[in-house]
Amino acid sequence: MEGTRYLDSEFRFNSGRLSLDLAATVRRRASTPIDVLGNPNACGRWLKAAGLFSDVPELSAENEEALIRLREAIWKLVTGAMETRYPEDATAVVNAAARFPLGTPQLQSRSGTVSVVSDDPFATAMSTIARDAIELVSGSLRLRLKTCDQPDCRMLFVDTSPSGQRRWCSMQRCGSRAKGHAFRQRHELSVRA
Ligand SMILES: [Zn+2]
Repeated sequence: MEGTRYLDSEFRFNSGRLSLDLAATVRRRASTPIDVLGNPNACGRWLKAAGLFSDVPELSAENEEALIRLREAIWKLVTGAMETRYPEDATAVVNAAARFPLGTPQLQSRSGTVSVVSDDPFATAMSTIARDAIELVSGSLRLRLKTCDQPDCRMLFVDTSPSGQRRWCSMQRCGSRAKGHAFRQRHELSVRA
């Protein structure tokens, strides 16, 4: 049970998009970066947690490097796209991953569940993530891309709130910290006044 709890909180899936969830596996990029995919077998665990594999896949070192390379390219591409720039090197990495065909959905007549069949499940997973990034930076949601307001966090997310006023990656993590800080500042000011 301990292990299950650890896995539940290991990764974040609250950016609003699969490709940004991958980028978010480097936490606190703006201050003291923590690479949560640097832990043993974390790349495989992330792919399962992201719903791209039904079981944790055995990845080669080459696979893991490719996933990290794609992650860094997505981060660069998305931060560029927020300023209507599409860096050539990052675009090339994402395009290359997107070239592999997606899996074929197969309905199971007994259970009604769907399994996805692919000759190369890892390449299919990479392609799924890359296509998500391409759609994101080329569609209307590009204008809803944001970085968390908390200076040491800066996590990328899509603001799908109706008002478009979302400021933080998560209210619990960064929003409450920011509000606490603002309260302390106000309090200090009123003490000084
Ligand atoms: Zn944040």
